[in-house]
Amino acid sequence: MRIDDLVILGRAAPQHLKNGRTTICLGGWSYEHGFIRIYPTKVRMGVSRWDVISVDVEKNVADTRNESWKIVGSRENWDYLEDSVRKVGRVKNSDQRREIVTDNLTSCVSELNNNHISLGFIKPQIIHKMYFGKNDQYGKPIQLPLLESYAKEWPKVKYDYELEPRLKYSCEQCQTKQGFHDQVILEWGFYEGMRKNPDNLEQVWENAQFLSDEHEIFLFVGNQQNRRNSYVIISVIRLKKQEKPTTKSMF
Ligand SMILES: [Zn+2]
Repeated sequence: MRIDDLVILGRAAPQHLKNGRTTICLGGWSYEHGFIRIYPTKVRMGVSRWDVISVDVEKNVADTRNESWKIVGSRENWDYLEDSVRKVGRVKNSDQRREIVTDNLTSCVSELNNNHISLGFIKPQIIHKMYFGKNDQYGKPIQLPLLESYAKEWPKVKYDYELEPRLKYSCEQCQTKQGFHDQVILEWGFYEGMRKNPDNLEQVWENAQFLSDEHEIFLFVGNQQNRRNSYVIISVIRLKKQEKPTTKSMF
């Protein structure tokens, strides 16, 4: 299948595959095909959020979720995978960005889960807490080929971080029993922020415009392949608040 209009919404923190590759999960939205997850992709793909790309994808037998795809030839052409992705545009206009999000909004993560939908947009109505939790992967023994060379190599992967950013929030009419969600944020930018500024981790919240009066926060969430009922935040979508309509002068 060819996707010609895939709007990049976010890239998760890098992970190591067992074969030693460093991979990134990419999420996006297509006017024609809806929500799309592409995995694996490389660290350097030359794309960023709101870029529009054209790419040939195929189903991954290891991942049965409707929204999941892999780039055609991603195993054989790994070294040149970025050549399989063509940037065809960018969603620059903030109204257009807002339209993509609000036209595809789900009221609660539980609704995605109940309908077995693996990706969606959520509007956090109340943010109870922005905090750092313990990263369960950290410090666990791993076996990787060529680990020594990988350890020195940029980028850091999720495994390398002792802490992980988390968000506790409620949707507008939250359907969970406890009335809130408590999810890990996997957006790569947060981890890069932590790497660059280890003495001031809290800066990541400011970077993502959580503290800004001029921005509105939406969450791009997705479930996990091995824990389909468990959703994570792939990307924090920060949109400039709509300006109040001004009275236009006729003259
Ligand atoms: Zn909810």
